Amino acid sequence: MSLHLEHDADLTALNTFGVPARAAMLARVDDAGELPGLFAAIAGQGLPWLALGQGSNLLFAGDPQGIVVQPVLAGIAVTGESGGRVRVRAGAGESWHGLVEWTLAHDLCGLENLALIPGTVGAAPVQNIGAYGVELAAFIGAVEAFDVGAGVLCRLEPGDCGFAYRDSRFKREPGRWLITAVELDLPRDAEPVTGYAGLGAELAAAGVTRPDARAVFEAVCALRRRKLPDPARIGNAGSFFKNPVVPALQAAFVRDHHPDLPCWPAGAEHVKLSAAWLIEHSGLKGHRIGDAGVSDRHALVLVNHGGATGAQLLALARHVQDTVQARFGVALEPEPVIIGAG
Ligand SMILES: Cc1cc2nc3c(=O)[nH]c(=O)nc-3n(C[C@H](O)[C@H](O)[C@H](O)COP(=O)(O)OP(=O)(O)OC[C@H]3O[C@@H](n4cnc5c(N)ncnc54)[C@H](O)[C@@H]3O)c2cc1C
Repeated sequence: MSLHLEHDADLTALNTFGVPARAAMLARVDDAGELPGLFAAIAGQGLPWLALGQGSNLLFAGDPQGIVVQPVLAGIAVTGESGGRVRVRAGAGESWHGLVEWTLAHDLCGLENLALIPGTVGAAPVQNIGAYGVELAAFIGAVEAFDVGAGVLCRLEPGDCGFAYRDSRFKREPGRWLITAVELDLPRDAEPVTGYAGLGAELAAAGVTRPDARAVFEAVCALRRRKLPDPARIGNAGSFFKNPVVPALQAAFVRDHHPDLPCWPAGAEHVKLSAAWLIEHSGLKGHRIGDAGVSDRHALVLVNHGGATGAQLLALARHVQDTVQARFGVALEPEPVIIGAG
């Protein structure tokens, strides 16, 4: 198989919310050489298209239009070494967590804080995945992608990717890029990042005084398993809202009334606020509208208790946004990509 086409494909098992959706056509591609022909055919029919990885950062509020393209390009290899950093190239269809484990097994570090993030390697640059004080952008050497507009395979340097907090040009230019591989520059030795959100305490509780990359990996996995609902048990897409970044003056005003609201500096003039705190203190933790719910374990996570549709989850998300806006005057922005909202 290098190109596999399926008509009227069921996407229910291909999104971690587990909501029902169908694609008129699902194209699975395991050879980048097939992409020019595939996209010429898509353009010839004047159809829109959507890239799909493991569906762990999108919400099907309705059926996607046109063709869904799932790159299942495989392979992880070391391709070079310079300046103390090792270049690793991974195909877009590889599992992200599998890649993190592979790098540790090859005595490379840097990605350990990003362990257990679901999804594919190809989707990781799209929202510049981040966790426990580390963002993917810090390790990107290059992103290989098919430029659908130009009909050519390209190699984008980090400065061309427009990375920002949970954002990139790939997210801002939907329909233009299909990422085929990611190149990472990883150190063999580096000071672990342990200062974020309970990670230091987790290491201390495990009796680790001088953590290495493996110890941080284990601690991150333990923390995530304890804190985040497992999509295999209850449908979800991880954090549903970004932490809002607001002008420092606005943050000072909100914190004047709510001094325990957690916040972090975000550049010279902005402050990042805890979206989870805002939702919880709006009384919405555990709130349900039918089978669409706010997790009772983590207020940032929306969950499908069984029979929710994407439209119902979207309605719940809007209720959360409206309630937080009315109570605190802060706008929340969804993190997952909303598909088919009409
Ligand atoms: C339990 C849980 C925990 C999570 N924790 C985190 C976390 O800590 N940090 C974090 O950053 N994210 C987190 N996420 C979100 C998610 O795992 C990541 O965003 C992940 O990178 C999405 O990968 P995916 O393959 O599932 O992408 P999908 O959900 O399939 O796609 C996401 C977006 O990327 C696009 N896309 C997918 N593949 C490609 C490609 N090859 N080329 C171009 N565009 C593409 C899609 O069109 C869509 O817009 C979590 C999700 C869950 C369910």
